[in-house]
Amino acid sequence: MQLTRPAILGGAPILTDPVPLARPTLDADPDLLATFRDVLSSGIVTKGRHLAELEREVADFLGVGHAVLVSSCTSGLMLTLRCLDLHGEVVLPSFTFMASGHAVVWNGLEPVFADIDPHTFAVDPERVADEVTDRTAALLAVHTFGSPCDVDALAKIAAERGVPLVVDAAAAFGGRYPDGSPVGGRGTAEVFSLSPTKPFTTGEGGIVATNDGELARELRVGRDYGNAGDYDSRFVGLNARMPELSAVLGRHHLPLLPALIERRQELADRYRAGLSGLPGIGFQRVPPGARSTYKDLCLTVSASGFGLDRDTLAAALRAEGVATRAYFDPPLHRQTAYRRFAASGKSLPHSEELAGRALAVPLYSHLPEHLVDRICEVVRRIHEHAAEITARTAPDAG
Ligand SMILES: *Cc1c(COP(=O)(O)O)cnc(C)c1O
Repeated sequence: MQLTRPAILGGAPILTDPVPLARPTLDADPDLLATFRDVLSSGIVTKGRHLAELEREVADFLGVGHAVLVSSCTSGLMLTLRCLDLHGEVVLPSFTFMASGHAVVWNGLEPVFADIDPHTFAVDPERVADEVTDRTAALLAVHTFGSPCDVDALAKIAAERGVPLVVDAAAAFGGRYPDGSPVGGRGTAEVFSLSPTKPFTTGEGGIVATNDGELARELRVGRDYGNAGDYDSRFVGLNARMPELSAVLGRHHLPLLPALIERRQELADRYRAGLSGLPGIGFQRVPPGARSTYKDLCLTVSASGFGLDRDTLAAALRAEGVATRAYFDPPLHRQTAYRRFAASGKSLPHSEELAGRALAVPLYSHLPEHLVDRICEVVRRIHEHAAEITARTAPDAG
């Protein structure tokens, strides 16, 4: 095929309509709209029957004892740590979305960052073990980009120290562990996000999945200000309820989710095939037998192999009409809000290196295959012109 010039060098953009990074796949069929109408005319728009039924349906889907629906993953993590009544330090990765750390700090707990495995992008259990001290109150792991972390190794460390293991499973609803079991049933609790960039969305929302009945009861009180019903608050909770209309959205879309995850897997495989053999481009390693939700497909870009660094590739793709995001850059320990933590100055070499190289590319269930092919084609084209792009964009190019 004749390679035309990349748009960043003045060629015509490969896409006339820009491709976004993520879009929810929502089904607005007449049944759903009729249920919305019923809820609206009933006047029960919070704490209604759809919330209770979605909690049962989600618990069945995940194979867990309890699914407590909340307003977001952030509030679910905040309440989980609050209900566990923790004091001291929480060991967590720095290479994650900021909300993982925020939940720790909102509870007056001190974040202690552990480095990641550079291949799986998940927190490295050996590095976690290094950070455990007699001040450690909990471990907080993350299923990065929807790929399951090594929860068994982490659970062992948590059990040895006698502390809970909480999992930020924000991106992983619909994922599976290497043994085939659904993400959601491990650790003390696994907490999901239902915000619109995630594979399963209710507009906004979250789920705390747990097999601990006592914790589930506390969480239900906690999402209601800490009020068990007698207006004598047991502890300082939140208003973290999921609205009834969101629960209706969730009930409608839950049965559709397995096909949407399947489709994300196919598109991720298509990207891997389309970019295979391209120097300097790598992918997250999903543990053998596990299933990632591919909330994001993050490439790694090595400048020495590809010929351009991550940020220059992102700029070149933007010129073509392809949205990307540099997840998670900066990592938490380099963010302004975390400067006051003494250990935030410590070096986490794999987290820092990956933050400088990772690039999420467009992926959502209804993204057409031919657009994946075009994006792969344009990444190749940009690579072919790497030297020229470097000469053109270097600061001393004039
Ligand atoms: C999206 C996300 C969150 C935040 O979820 P909300 O529902 O928006 O609060 C937390 N952690 C990770 C890893 C995420 O990807």
